[in-house]
Amino acid sequence: MDQKKNTLPVAHQYSIEQLYHFRCGACAQWWSIADFQIVEQKKLYCPKCGHKAPVESIKK
Ligand SMILES: [Zn+2]
Repeated sequence: MDQKKNTLPVAHQYSIEQLYHFRCGACAQWWSIADFQIVEQKKLYCPKCGHKAPVESIKK
């Protein structure tokens, strides 16, 4: 007789994150920040070239 294990499966766990992609206004290179809080007036430094500028959404 087939003896199967009589235990509950151990679930895989997951969580969700939002990933923001930024394109530098000076050097046009991209970088990303997970779970970022957008504040339009706040200025960010580009990690590639150091350019400091506010952020705006990419219009499609
Ligand atoms: Zn840059």
